[in-house]
Amino acid sequence: MSEKIIRSLSLFENFLEENDIIRQLHEVVKKNHKQEISEFIDNNKLALNRYADEESLRLITKAVEDNEYTAVVNKFNKCVDSDYLLYVGPINYFSVSDKTGEEHELKLLLLERERDAKTIVDEIENYVGKIQEKLGIPCSFGNRYVEFYNLNVGPNSGNEIAIFSPFYFENYDAKCIEGKRSLMYINIMYERFKHLTLPLIQENVRFNTKKSLLLTAGQEQIKKAFIIWITLHEMFHSSGPLPLFTKNISKLNLGLDYAGIEELRVDTTAWIAVDLLPFISLSDKRLVKELIICERLLRSTRRGYWKDKKYGIIKNSSDNQQGVFWFAILQEKEGLNIINNQIHIDLLKADDILKDFLNDYYKSETFVSSEKELLELSNQMFNRYLGATDRMEVQFSPSLRNFLESVSNYTTHIKFI
Ligand SMILES: [Zn+2]
Repeated sequence: MSEKIIRSLSLFENFLEENDIIRQLHEVVKKNHKQEISEFIDNNKLALNRYADEESLRLITKAVEDNEYTAVVNKFNKCVDSDYLLYVGPINYFSVSDKTGEEHELKLLLLERERDAKTIVDEIENYVGKIQEKLGIPCSFGNRYVEFYNLNVGPNSGNEIAIFSPFYFENYDAKCIEGKRSLMYINIMYERFKHLTLPLIQENVRFNTKKSLLLTAGQEQIKKAFIIWITLHEMFHSSGPLPLFTKNISKLNLGLDYAGIEELRVDTTAWIAVDLLPFISLSDKRLVKELIICERLLRSTRRGYWKDKKYGIIKNSSDNQQGVFWFAILQEKEGLNIINNQIHIDLLKADDILKDFLNDYYKSETFVSSEKELLELSNQMFNRYLGATDRMEVQFSPSLRNFLESVSNYTTHIKFI
């Protein structure tokens, strides 16, 4: 059994070298001295103006001084479609927090808009009614606005691919916050793909007996495929008989007991739905499908492939569980075969298998009327597809274990320094 293999990357260095004022601000923020930070911003308003308007800068200095971030988070939420988003304050990816009053370490966040993404997001938003018609499930973005930005500077352990505003900020008054933003880090997604997924694609996967199109696609094409996929992914979280954010029967309340299934639902639905979009070319559709499945099979599955005494062999993470489900569902009906440590995917069969799977799944979800029943549905799926009576005792199938052993020298995690 292999251990974590981590590659350290210095993602922000190039940007900081070319943007001296941000490099200086970054150094000042790292010292975490409130007065020095607000003085620095005050003295460099003109130079910082490229990244944030005057009001934003004024609100940041005030927030830093008072440890009260409501006004600046509100302003941040209103700067939709800005080329840059600059924020200084406490950030916590793991909590949905508002007013704690505590003094947390301050962080600099600088995001740069991915220019071509908006057209794609808008096209998908305008087509939601048709997707609903064609899939036969309720479809909606809820009240979420999905945007794509590059993380130029900011806290990131290598795992976080989005910042949900206001939730990941701290010390604001939730009652006074207008708007929510789902800001997806397109460059982090791409780096993860490049270092964790792409290295395995050459040798370890075939689509309809051929090598993956991802091998010859350029960076821009792959980023576009991510934008299409992740927009659908986020939309489907708010869709179906039981959207993730409904309050009465809450998948969120079940936490990791449902997260793997929920991620599987949205990605398999996205895989089917991409074919329904008339404004996406055939070759882009194919690229999106190959991207989704390679990310899940070759990256997600390997994330948990290290010893975890507490949880048995499969790590209890939604990412890892989802990867194992993709294997199990497709392998059962031979949409996927592992031959000499190479994954062979029959795309047409995979389509049929996933459509059947989703039909059954959505039917089951329609009948769920309590969180207890939702948990039962999740247990049934673990039992049905992974042969697990206890989700903590889930094991990899022998063929998957062999495959994973054969690729155990590849990097499993990245981190940014
Ligand atoms: Zn998700």
